[in-house]
Amino acid sequence: MTINRSKVVIIGAGLVGSSTAFSLITQGVCDEVMLVDINKDKARGEVTDLCHCVEYLNRNIKVTEGDYKDCGDADIVVITAGAPPKINQTRLDTLELSAKIVKTIVKPVMDSGFGGHFILVSNPVDIIAYYVYKLSGLPKNQVIGTGTALDSARLKYFIGEMFHVDPRSVQGYTMGEHGDSQMCPWSHVTVGGKRITDILKDNDEYKNINLDEIVKRVTRVGFEILEVKGTTCYGIATTVAGIIKSILNDENKIIPVSTLLEGEYGESDVFCGVPVILNRGGVKDVIEVHMTEEELMKFKESIAVIREYSDKIDIHRL
Ligand code: NAD
Repeated sequence: MTINRSKVVIIGAGLVGSSTAFSLITQGVCDEVMLVDINKDKARGEVTDLCHCVEYLNRNIKVTEGDYKDCGDADIVVITAGAPPKINQTRLDTLELSAKIVKTIVKPVMDSGFGGHFILVSNPVDIIAYYVYKLSGLPKNQVIGTGTALDSARLKYFIGEMFHVDPRSVQGYTMGEHGDSQMCPWSHVTVGGKRITDILKDNDEYKNINLDEIVKRVTRVGFEILEVKGTTCYGIATTVAGIIKSILNDENKIIPVSTLLEGEYGESDVFCGVPVILNRGGVKDVIEVHMTEEELMKFKESIAVIREYSDKIDIHRL
């Protein structure tokens, strides 16, 4: 009899990495969580602390400290190594540093025999995901950036707050860059099945709501958190755990993540946030929503921003 144990390796045991580990073990998402960090003391400290949770968890999850060579039997490798943007920087400004860091990580992970899914969190995540796709040689469905998954959770939260409903009753997402240029196809946002545009039309009390302002709030809020606490961690950690659950449990959940477009939306050879079906095989399908002309234009503008920065990493000289 073979009993398969699920293993997730998190590279980068900083705030995002350790919060992701905490989220995975408290939700009992997998059998083993391994932390790898260039700062071995930091990884050891986080692992020791996390191990002491076990008594009060609903299952005995193994938490270990490891190295790249231990990725060979992992189902998922999450990369969170990299520094958060400083005040007055955008996520795109952290590209050079993040690219340098992931370059040192991907090769040894692949040399370990790893054949699972990469989940990229390090920013700017769309470009880093594309870079890892090229560096690793893995099929496109196995390289997943967190994309606009967290932004979409924020969008739903703000809409839920506005209409006093559970954010989980809101259906919708932002798309494009996980960054300032992301957009929302409002023609596809519904609350309890009713289009948000109809809700605004039908209710006088909502007639002054400016939908573009909500997207701006989504793009700004990460920086508002950054200003007061230095980084964001719980939202992204729970988002990563949600993506991992969908993969390991073969859920076929639709989540907007960063994936390679190959003709969808008339775009190719670029990673960006679009809704996809996620299951054990990773990205099963990209959902192509029918956008209005204005929405499609905004989406394409966002992709142009990603491309401009992707071109700054000379992938072909790697
Ligand atoms: P942090 O500084 O707290 O942690 C980064 C960790 O990476 C540190 O422990 C550092 O030692 C480690 N590290 C650096 N180089 C390494 C290497 N070569 N190998 C292994 N470990 C290495 O930063 P953080 O707040 O955890 O943020 C991490 C990344 O996540 C940043 O790029 C940030 O912008 C990004 N982030 C993304 C999202 C998203 O929605 N995608 C949300 C929040 C943060």
